[in-house]
Amino acid sequence: MKKHKQDIHRITANTRRMIKIIALGLLLTGITAAGICICHDAMYGQAGSGSASSEPAALQPASAESAAGEGVTVADAEFQDLTDAVSSFKETTARTSAAGTTAGLPSDTAQAVISETASAGTRVPVMNGDAPDLTGYIVVIDPGHQLYSNNEQEAMAPAGMGVEGTKEKCSSGTSGVSTKRPEYEVNLEVGLMLCSYLESLGCEVHMTRTTDDVDLSNIDRADIAHSYATDYYIRLHCDGSDNASARGIGVFVTSLGDNASLQTELGDILGNCLAESTGAVFRGTNAGTTYSGLNWTYDIPGCILEMGFMTNPEEDELLSDPAYQQQICAGIADFLATLPQS
Ligand SMILES: [Zn+2]
Repeated sequence: MKKHKQDIHRITANTRRMIKIIALGLLLTGITAAGICICHDAMYGQAGSGSASSEPAALQPASAESAAGEGVTVADAEFQDLTDAVSSFKETTARTSAAGTTAGLPSDTAQAVISETASAGTRVPVMNGDAPDLTGYIVVIDPGHQLYSNNEQEAMAPAGMGVEGTKEKCSSGTSGVSTKRPEYEVNLEVGLMLCSYLESLGCEVHMTRTTDDVDLSNIDRADIAHSYATDYYIRLHCDGSDNASARGIGVFVTSLGDNASLQTELGDILGNCLAESTGAVFRGTNAGTTYSGLNWTYDIPGCILEMGFMTNPEEDELLSDPAYQQQICAGIADFLATLPQS
């Protein structure tokens, strides 16, 4: 387990959009504990014969030290480094996808940049009431699960990636301990709101589904993400736990491919944007190879966003509260504004 404690930095950067950026200190990775997330697709993997990595570690709230720090000015160039790293990632993606190969993401440069920027702090935009301009961005939203789960099996990851075995095509999700609502319904509700909100900011948005009664496997959903020049693929889920007090926002990314560290870096920025916009605890970003739907989009920046726990009565109610849902959408929009466009 590795922890990174970083100082808070505050910058105004991004010559393109003049986005006001703050860099919050954070603990970069999850903390080991018994796995409690029961909803995201990783937790529903069938035994198969896979060599996929162990179950994802449960995430715990970041310590209080991550919420304190002093303002420091960070050079625009450092934010530009992160932007350049993502751009390089995506340019490579387009090339390898067209070639039909799963190999060869030359991320040495990206990794070097991330190593540098990690020491300078992760950048998070300030929620100052100013919605960002997302003109030119392309986002694919995948509201997790569907009305009927599909237990048929499909490959955990593309061939040649070192992850064998299969997993069910679409798992059932969790449900609200207070609202009694199924997760797929809440995921879609937030997804549709997010779609409308992002479009109102100029973003081009594509949904993997707009109704609950669909039959889309994780690979089907990945194929949709691959069919566009996707700047970010966001998979909306709600979490569940046997512990009714478990709460907070979790981000999950694939550790496949040479840009896994970059995926984690982006996940941390997203999580901190959401913590800022909702007031919820960000539990960290967890990278692994058991998230089959993300394995299949390892070459696209993206994540599973666990928006909160439906097994926590208070958070369950919040997740169905339109005002809270809007705060989630605002945090995601602020995160997207930190990404370079295609
Ligand atoms: Zn889920």
